Amino acid sequence: MFPFFVEAYPWDVVSPAGEKRLECLHGEVGITGVALWASTPPFSAMNRFGETAGMVRSSGGLLYKPKDSDFESSDCKPVIADLARENDSMRRAIDVCDHHGLGVRFIGSALRGGGMANRYPEFAAINALGAKSQDCVCPSNVDVQTYVGGLAASLQELKSDAELVVSDMVAGCDDLLCTPRSYDAALLDTVEQALLTWCFCDACAAKAGREGIDVAAVNIDVRRAVGEAIDRGPRDECAHDAMPNMDAAMQAYWSTHLETVADLFEIVEAKSGGEVIFAEENMCDIAASSSTTLQVFVGSLEEFQDVSEENENSVEIAFPAALAVAGEAADLTAALKAAVDADVLGITVRHLGMIPEAAIVPLKQAIRFARRAV
Ligand SMILES: [Zn+2]
Repeated sequence: MFPFFVEAYPWDVVSPAGEKRLECLHGEVGITGVALWASTPPFSAMNRFGETAGMVRSSGGLLYKPKDSDFESSDCKPVIADLARENDSMRRAIDVCDHHGLGVRFIGSALRGGGMANRYPEFAAINALGAKSQDCVCPSNVDVQTYVGGLAASLQELKSDAELVVSDMVAGCDDLLCTPRSYDAALLDTVEQALLTWCFCDACAAKAGREGIDVAAVNIDVRRAVGEAIDRGPRDECAHDAMPNMDAAMQAYWSTHLETVADLFEIVEAKSGGEVIFAEENMCDIAASSSTTLQVFVGSLEEFQDVSEENENSVEIAFPAALAVAGEAADLTAALKAAVDADVLGITVRHLGMIPEAAIVPLKQAIRFARRAV
């Protein structure tokens, strides 16, 4: 069966109205499974089901209670989301999915769950200007690696064969770009913005130093490139895909970060029960090995075309439910069919909370038609 998932929070799935919606998505639309959020950055979402209906604001973190022993060998302990501390609905959500014959996947933020960097500033990613990430810890720290391995192991205990979609596995700190008061990030093109996400924490510097890289010189180069870019102003032409003008040391430094992410991905794979899928991240999609399934986020119908053209047979796509509601149903149908024709491995519909009713008919039409192509 062609994998067709919808994302949901555990509390959506266990509420009577949410379970009913899920039944409809299964029976009428033909979803094959639910991707349950298991570890999230801080978030706010609308909850329209259950007695706690309203705006849900959460510090994020793990949406379930793991065993303490999963994390005992790390100084970096998980943040348990306030909602999960009060009401651990994850196990019941898994039971609901099992009961309806739906597959279960977990989605886990590796390095941002619950704003980890705020709790563990000693493990926070730090950019070349010395700004510390508010939410992203750096995977060069051994304790952080052990923590992420513990996350995968604890999910495996919840459901041994569940697939895991890993998000926020980044080699840097792009949340710093959202704090323009600290510097003129808005004036920078994506090239220099990327440089500003590079981590220069002690663990990163030590790792690169062991490989003979002059980290202080790389740091100066990055600061110079950023300073020149601010003086120059944004380029006229779109620099979206441009790479920074890197000398050998900068190139080598960046390579150490990509290695770190690739190593972390291996740790997660070793601890997980089911397949691990790498959610494509801003500046790090090259980090996963080619044998890994990438989940590419498609935000518009035009982007479906790009995925279809560039697909190298290990790509899944995820698109927002809003695409099914906002545009013409026929356009979504055509886009999905093109993606399936291009052999994408699966489809996930994203939504903060349970898929809205208005999306059901267009999704049903698009998926039926696309499936015929399989
Ligand atoms: Zn670092």
